[in-house]
Amino acid sequence: MSTLYELLAGEDDQPALLAPGKPMLTYGQLRRNVREIASQLNQLGLGRGDRIALAMINGPELITTFFGIATAATAAPLNPKYKQDEFAFYYEDTAAKALVTLSGSPIPAAMAAALPGMKLLSVSADENGYCGLAVVSDGSSLPPPDPKPEEVSESDDVAMILHTSGTTSRPKRVPLRHRNLVASANNIRSTYDLGPSDRTLCVMPLFHIHGIVGSMLSTLSSGGSVVCPPGFNAMEFLSLIESFSPTWYSAVPTMHQMVLARVDRHAEQLRKRRLRFIRSSSAPMPPVVRERLEQCFNAPVLDSYGMTEASHQMASNPLPPRERKAGTVGYGHGVEVRIMDEAGHLLAPGEIGEVVVRGPNVVDGYENNPEANLAAYTNGWFRTGDQGVLDADGYLSLTGRIKELINRGGEKVSPLEIDDVLLRHPAVAEALAFAVPHKMLGEEIHAAVVLKDPVEGSELRAHCAEALAEYKVPKRFHVLTEIPRGATGKLQRINMAKLLKIGAADE
Ligand code: ATP
Ligand code: MG
Repeated sequence: MSTLYELLAGEDDQPALLAPGKPMLTYGQLRRNVREIASQLNQLGLGRGDRIALAMINGPELITTFFGIATAATAAPLNPKYKQDEFAFYYEDTAAKALVTLSGSPIPAAMAAALPGMKLLSVSADENGYCGLAVVSDGSSLPPPDPKPEEVSESDDVAMILHTSGTTSRPKRVPLRHRNLVASANNIRSTYDLGPSDRTLCVMPLFHIHGIVGSMLSTLSSGGSVVCPPGFNAMEFLSLIESFSPTWYSAVPTMHQMVLARVDRHAEQLRKRRLRFIRSSSAPMPPVVRERLEQCFNAPVLDSYGMTEASHQMASNPLPPRERKAGTVGYGHGVEVRIMDEAGHLLAPGEIGEVVVRGPNVVDGYENNPEANLAAYTNGWFRTGDQGVLDADGYLSLTGRIKELINRGGEKVSPLEIDDVLLRHPAVAEALAFAVPHKMLGEEIHAAVVLKDPVEGSELRAHCAEALAEYKVPKRFHVLTEIPRGATGKLQRINMAKLLKIGAADE
């Protein structure tokens, strides 16, 4: 089992894809439709080695098209909300030969103006949910699809190109091979004992590694079903749980927080619905959010650690009865996780350093980026850029991103610790500590907060001083109505000073 097509594990008559208001697709239908799309691409002269961008909102059409492209060629999923210039960057950087969008989407017109010479294709589903491609430029449909593509991808081929989120530098281009993605999906399946009776509610965008592997591929590799609404909407989330009865879902902490804000009134119904577990990944999970989520849903919340270059998951807390340790992201499942110092020596449990990983899910290198590759691999280990520490049982605690650590006059401060203290104040809804340039200290600490109730800066300062050493207490608090985030919902910590136009201070 080494290509994405072969990963589809369900029996022909088992449900594979569901969505509100749309027909259900079985595994048999999905497999046939994937082969048809692959063969339509072949008819257009597109095949192995060709990159095909796709910009579609979440839904069964996106999943079917994604598998079709990966089976014939290489898929480059993009955020459909990108503006013209963003599309142009990703499209050109990927060297895509074609772009597939959902029929009727406004994207093709804008794109056609920006990038002459590319093939624009659209996909639409018939009343049974079967998808087919059409050529947008001349509006012609392709000949009736033949479910036997001429040539299909192999294990070593690049199934998908994704860019890293661009949190710490310009987004880097990551070629993910079939074998990397299959290894990762299988690791996640075995971490959570996923099987044919499992059903995930896929709320993560399917242009990001978390949604693609953490929700979708892991479930389809187990023969379970994927419920795929058009995206995450905190208002609709609870009613989707009611109507589709998923057994689990995976999301980022921001989404968990948004769900919690609405959950109180539904608490009783939700407990009856019995999720087997809730997974969190992609960003630090404030302990207080995990505690509240577990109480509300009466289900274990498993914090997991992933990144694009590792085809998503590197570590996760396990299901009960195995121990989940608060404040950790668990341990590697099919992935080796260690800590390394700057000189490249592996460190012992209890020693803080850079998290490094090794395994079949980790990519061989970035594309066209020899400098980044040189910096990222040491003795066969991939350097994650995250700082952490292992305990004696191999559980990993992340202490911050190396690039996000605040260096206050030589004292290295992890901003995560400050965020968590602030979130424990009853008036604080969101918090983000960040570095501000400072003439004497190099960096000073400020914090941005979104408030539920009005509170004075002096009170927040006193609250922080109870839990934190004086040098870690933010010098100033910036009250915002919203904390700015990147496309994947990540906080832009290292850009905050610039975003808030705070310059060097010597106070
Ligand atoms: P770039 O590499 O371009 O700066 P990025 O690292 O944000 O962007 P991704 O690959 O989407 O791009 O994210 C991976 C990073 O997300 C990890 O290196 C880590 O810093 C963070 N992360 C993932 N899961 C967790 C988690 N459970 N807790 C804390 N941080 C996490
Ligand atoms: Mg990164």
